[in-house]
Amino acid sequence: MKMIRVKIWLIIALLIFLSTSVVSGAAACEQENAAVQYCLTDNNLHVLINVIMAGERAFDPCTEETEDTYAFLVKQGMEMLSGTVAGVNGGEFSLKIEVVEESTKKFTKSEINDILAQTDDTKKNYIVVFPQASFAELKRDYPAAYAKDMVKKPVLGYESYDYAGSGYVVIMAGEAGRVANTAAHEAMHLLGVGDIGFDSIDASLAGRFDIMRYGNKRSADVSNIHIYMMLKANKSKKTSQWKDMNDELLKFSKKNGLNYSKPL
Ligand SMILES: [Zn+2]
Repeated sequence: MKMIRVKIWLIIALLIFLSTSVVSGAAACEQENAAVQYCLTDNNLHVLINVIMAGERAFDPCTEETEDTYAFLVKQGMEMLSGTVAGVNGGEFSLKIEVVEESTKKFTKSEINDILAQTDDTKKNYIVVFPQASFAELKRDYPAAYAKDMVKKPVLGYESYDYAGSGYVVIMAGEAGRVANTAAHEAMHLLGVGDIGFDSIDASLAGRFDIMRYGNKRSADVSNIHIYMMLKANKSKKTSQWKDMNDELLKFSKKNGLNYSKPL
């Protein structure tokens, strides 16, 4: 009888522990309607991206690469950024990216335009991804995206970095053969990390196949430096640009090394 009572107490204690840990995890997430949910606890960052795949070719098979659809490769590419990496805040850091995909069938073109134009943060926000789209298609069917100066800003918030409101990512036709990596690169922008320009940074800060290297289609390498830049962008609400941060990043890498992540 005593044994059973002890077991019951253990179970109750475990339930209390589990329920409080769930609550504290949820409390760390910012802005519940944000397009990009940012849930940071100590050395763990869990990012949920609310995605609507749109455009007439989103669900075509990507025959240049596999038989998977473009939409599938986009999701796979963004989630490929997940992993653990050493040398952040003196320890290991784990990043998990989760694409929460809404069924596109639920939205008409005009509803998608409304979502892109909305500024009401009591409504749920999304990142609308247009895989394999063309300017002509966007201009015709998604004027709300086209109006947001898409040539200069393929990702909303490129400069100011605001992941809360709805935005979009375009993976242009012609990116075939590298859809997943392009999606991973664009997701990194959603997390506030800028492009590595030509000769703009110290070569030691990023490997040859770093995901932010322009034209890198060979891998989606994520390092502790990206994590540092992400956390900084989240605090400052400004995109972390390599060129501006060159000296700061050199200091960081001198202290922590340049470490690439291991996939989860
Ligand atoms: Zn870029």
